[in-house]
Amino acid sequence: MRINEKHTIKNPFSRRKFIFQVSRWGVGSIVLSTMTSLVSCGGTTSTEKADENKMKQKEGKKLGVALVGLGGYSGGQLAPALQETEHCYLAGIVTGSPDKIDEWKNKYKIPEGNIYDYENFDTIKDNPAIDIVYVVLPNSMHAEYTIRAAKAGKHVICEKPMAVTVEDCDRMISACKDAGKMLSIGYRLHFEPYNREMMRLGQEKVYGEIKKMVGENGMGSAGGWRLDKELAGGGPLMDVGIYCIQAMRYVTGMEPIAVSAKEGKKTQPDKYKEVEESLIWQMEFPGNLIAECKTSYSEGMNLLRAEAVNGWFELSPAYGYGGIQGETSEGKMDFEDVNQQALQMDDFAIAVKEERDTPVPGEMGKQDVKILQAIYRAMQTGERIEIT
Ligand code: NAD
Repeated sequence: MRINEKHTIKNPFSRRKFIFQVSRWGVGSIVLSTMTSLVSCGGTTSTEKADENKMKQKEGKKLGVALVGLGGYSGGQLAPALQETEHCYLAGIVTGSPDKIDEWKNKYKIPEGNIYDYENFDTIKDNPAIDIVYVVLPNSMHAEYTIRAAKAGKHVICEKPMAVTVEDCDRMISACKDAGKMLSIGYRLHFEPYNREMMRLGQEKVYGEIKKMVGENGMGSAGGWRLDKELAGGGPLMDVGIYCIQAMRYVTGMEPIAVSAKEGKKTQPDKYKEVEESLIWQMEFPGNLIAECKTSYSEGMNLLRAEAVNGWFELSPAYGYGGIQGETSEGKMDFEDVNQQALQMDDFAIAVKEERDTPVPGEMGKQDVKILQAIYRAMQTGERIEIT
């Protein structure tokens, strides 16, 4: 019976065991087989670097991570998660706000020599304590800091959305390749058991062909750089709608062939002068599969649902840091809550040490940006836009 099958999956998902599984499977092995070009950036590392990595692995050393940008996500999620990771740790910070330094330095015991600002950031190349740079800045700054980090000889994790243009994504991928460094995107849900179960149910066609998908992700408010087109690249679609795009890809294991979209009416036109306040869009997949999606900065919503010929499966909420709940047409899913960010960063650290591909590489981020851009084009023109 399927429910029992799920229970047999449930038990291995203690945090420790899940990390182990994640590293053994190379995470997302299901996803890997079907998504586009999942070759990680920088397949060839120099012999010295490889030796260095092997040495660290042999010595069981944790890799040092430097967070660039000490805002809400770094402070609220990533830094705490880096206290739980087993293969990497918070070694350094890069910030433009001197007033934040003391608190971070004391709280996380960060040595003076591992603290950088945006001007002297490039000298991080001389610091062997930093192996990985994690870019957690406003979206349009991702490209510059990823490229600078790669040029400084560091592996990079970059937050979503990878960048605001496909051209920037290409430049980031090339910079990492040229430097022989790995690049991954902060797609934490690939390490989260409920979302992984959705991938399994969809890609293995456990309930048969999927006929329809629904994705909704919105939040009740947004401010600061998120309302600035130049820094954010767009509104809620770039910020939270991207989770629906990702989910449609990883549940179906397919790429959309076309999109259409319509901007929602602005209830606060003064606030949302530069970016959309809400948006609904449709993604067409091969086999007449349609995904209906919506996103908003003025309405909380959080749903991922798949309807297949022999049943349905869904998560609600689907995309949070915790508290995800899942159900199928046969009953409730039951997995443990995990620290998604700790698993995500540990998996990348293991990938670096073992010189294996990351399941969430730059190429995956680039494909999402391509789809985001197509959705905006569809919204602006009112036309159905094919994704080539
Ligand atoms: P935030 O506003 O809380 O922090 C942004 C940081 O960037 C601040 O430290 C700020 O000082 C710094 N910064 C540097 N230059 C800036 C400028 N010109 N304007 C504004 N801030 C500037 O934002 P956040 O929520 O931490 O988001 C940062 C990135 O992380 C974004 O790309 C976002 O999409 C991503 N994010 C990802 C998740 C996730 O679940 N994966 C969650 C939240 C945010």
